[in-house]
Amino acid sequence: MSGDLSCAASGCAATTVVACAYVDRRGRPCPTAWCRDHVEAAGDRPYCRRHAGVMRARLADPQESMLPDLESRAPGLIEWLARDLAEGVEAALLATGAGDSVASEAAHTVHQARARERTWERSWRLCRNTGFVHRVCLQVEEAHDTEVTLVVDRREVVRLTPPWIAARLSGEVVSPEEDARRRAEFRESLLGAVRRGLDDEASVRLP
Ligand SMILES: [Zn+2]
Ligand SMILES: [Zn+2]
Repeated sequence: MSGDLSCAASGCAATTVVACAYVDRRGRPCPTAWCRDHVEAAGDRPYCRRHAGVMRARLADPQESMLPDLESRAPGLIEWLARDLAEGVEAALLATGAGDSVASEAAHTVHQARARERTWERSWRLCRNTGFVHRVCLQVEEAHDTEVTLVVDRREVVRLTPPWIAARLSGEVVSPEEDARRRAEFRESLLGAVRRGLDDEASVRLP
């Protein structure tokens, strides 16, 4: 490895770069640097994509004082999934006809009795008048950042490993077309699980 800094984006040869400003809770700085096309900002500071997600979540919720370990992909994964699924989750919530608006919560961490490590979560609530009717929640445990858990109301509906993570873990090389196909399939199976979970909750509530 040379000592020269070049942009960490794959295929980018730019050498005018700025280092990611992230420092984790053990005081270890993120080792990546990025050109101005590939750097991301959160607040006024430069970050890699993963840590920009972490810091945006933190800015949205200043109570969130614990910074995740440098190597945890949980915050980045939860942000990516939330962006990809938000529209579908909102549509599924509104399709129940039980409420009139959807409120989403920014990424934050929760402590759970069953998980010793912190869990990152993104959630959407279906609201009616002043209360909420249903809540759909995606969770990734910091120590198990290869799995996403879908919770509808209080029930865990499904737990899945995203296909690109499964491929990375097994060392499988996947063509861009196959990757896109698997991502679409994964999105559909999560949204299908959201709809099933909401159906089940609705039938439990019927008199
Ligand atoms: Zn670059
Ligand atoms: Zn970083």
